[in-house]
Amino acid sequence: MPELPEVEAVRTGLEQLILGKEISQVHVFWPRIIESPEVELFKVNLIGEKVGAINRRGKFLIFELSHYEMVSHLRMEGKYEFHQQEDEVAKHTHVMFDFTDGTQLRYLDVRKFGRMTLLPKGLASEYSGILKLGPEPVPETFFLKAFSAGLKRSSKAIKPLLLDQKLVTGLGNIYVDEALYEARIHPEQPAGTLLRKEVEALYQAIIDVLGRAVEAGGTTIRTYKNALGEAGKFQVSLNVYGQTGVPCPRCGTGIIKTKVAQRGTHYCPTCQKLRQRKMRD
Ligand code: ZN
Repeated sequence: MPELPEVEAVRTGLEQLILGKEISQVHVFWPRIIESPEVELFKVNLIGEKVGAINRRGKFLIFELSHYEMVSHLRMEGKYEFHQQEDEVAKHTHVMFDFTDGTQLRYLDVRKFGRMTLLPKGLASEYSGILKLGPEPVPETFFLKAFSAGLKRSSKAIKPLLLDQKLVTGLGNIYVDEALYEARIHPEQPAGTLLRKEVEALYQAIIDVLGRAVEAGGTTIRTYKNALGEAGKFQVSLNVYGQTGVPCPRCGTGIIKTKVAQRGTHYCPTCQKLRQRKMRD
């Protein structure tokens, strides 16, 4: 599943390739990808629309058009490809957007879980999935004070709390393990028991880990021709995720894998000890 950095790489790729283009026709081969409005209206409304900007909120891509905003979520395996209209159409292509200059944006999705929604301009921020999201993981919108207060209120284990995107958006299963490792916090430590210095370390680690991954995606994107920042195709060096048995870069202890809230979880048993469950006051 693509995480925030991969979706950001897709956004960058789209921005480089389709900004300013005008849609002349839309083809939908798998109607369920279109959440709303109904497919015929979706197609008709898009004709003549120009791509003004490509934004992102959490893992939602937002295409800013002349009169509409198109929200697109890739879910498990959705991806965009940029083509000439005459190029052969690959299997699993479900939606195609023709541009007036003969180029074409294609949406491919093996599992068909991805969704697109067309909304009147200005309404993407009120889309239900977007409305629920916490701040983006950058210092301009993500604040230590609010983060700290949110953690303090919760007795939930820190990993699932971060995964639910409300305190901060952008941490999926990979980067949450990396951020907790960097901050030396056990994934099952109850959020309300984190010490002030741990909260500060975690806050910084979230910004750093996601910032580095976004940067890595941004530098790799140029090496692709058609696929736009395809999930997992760029290399970010990971300290714990997928490193079971590999020595911890800090202390040399083997990284272990366990399950926390049904998710495969990697951590260093020496650097990330579970402390007594006493709530922070
Ligand atoms: Zn260690």
